Amino acid sequence: MENSQPTFTISSLVRSNIRELKPYSSARDEFKGNAQVFLDANENPFPSEFNRYPDSHQFELKQKVASIKGVSVENVFLGNGSDEAIDLIIRAFCEPNCDSILINEPTYGMYAVCANINAVKVISVPLSESFDLDIASIKGRIDQGTKIIFLCSPNNPTGNLLSEEKIISLLNDFPGIVVIDEAYIDFAETESFVNKIQTYPNLIVLQTFSKAWGLAALRLGVAVASEEIIGILHKIKMPYNVNNATAKHVVDTLEKTTSTRTLVDEILRERRRTKQTLENLSSVVNVFQSDANFLLVKFQDAKKVYRHLINYQIVVRDRSHVQGCHNCLRITIGMPAENDRLIKALQAL
Ligand SMILES: *Cc1c(COP(=O)(O)O)cnc(C)c1O
Repeated sequence: MENSQPTFTISSLVRSNIRELKPYSSARDEFKGNAQVFLDANENPFPSEFNRYPDSHQFELKQKVASIKGVSVENVFLGNGSDEAIDLIIRAFCEPNCDSILINEPTYGMYAVCANINAVKVISVPLSESFDLDIASIKGRIDQGTKIIFLCSPNNPTGNLLSEEKIISLLNDFPGIVVIDEAYIDFAETESFVNKIQTYPNLIVLQTFSKAWGLAALRLGVAVASEEIIGILHKIKMPYNVNNATAKHVVDTLEKTTSTRTLVDEILRERRRTKQTLENLSSVVNVFQSDANFLLVKFQDAKKVYRHLINYQIVVRDRSHVQGCHNCLRITIGMPAENDRLIKALQAL
């Protein structure tokens, strides 16, 4: 890997079968114009809220999402959660039993799971002691077959942002796709990378409606990237991957408000309060700095704390077996009363 503008094109990175693929053409793709009688899609004619197939291009929803993200509709892919986008990105660029992705652990588990499902090799590089990128190791581990580097910032389960400077060095030097998963970006005091897609043709930014927007059950994820990359994802997605109930609910939500600020502010206040309280408990070794809606907490004995909390009917995420997270639990910030219950239970330990 050289310190110069990478010489590659997206179409040379994409798998050849995908490049050649003729996508499925749905009934509504083949007809454009005004019609009143729809006998083209084998739907049930008896009217109900849901008897018609959804718009496979999600026209109205995509316009609204593009507008709040400050990008054009051509730069937006909408998926059944950002998990769908993770899977599609791997399938678009990685040849099974041949290519690889690189992840920086500890991190979100779905990158490796999606790669494994698709028989794509996973190169795992440990994050540094301070949970930041280890650029020298990354550069040492990538090879000809490494097509995608997954970065998660703020990272799950560690909670911290990755260094912007290091991310940019990868965007400049790595001759493949760099995915930045920003599922928690609304909780961080930093700008998203979405406004850098014009500068970096190999950048894909993932965001979701599952966290700050509070709509996890609806399953709506967003990928923002160059028009060329978005075109590839559209080509290989299932035709009706975002359902009507989701589209309608999110359109209605975005008509009422275009910002998560109020809810996020409340969660950030609770994060500060919970962190300060936990730091004073004798069972707690360290509460890591968080730019997300959860805290990674190192205990003297995480397994014991986990069981104790279960007895109090409080469930947190046990990350103590995860590389770099020895004796750590990941604790989501809840409602004030829920955080109080957590604190009380821990004080009773
Ligand atoms: C929660 C989470 C997601 C999942 O998002 P969905 O849109 O609900 O699929 C993606 N990435 C990270 C890092 C997450 O923590």
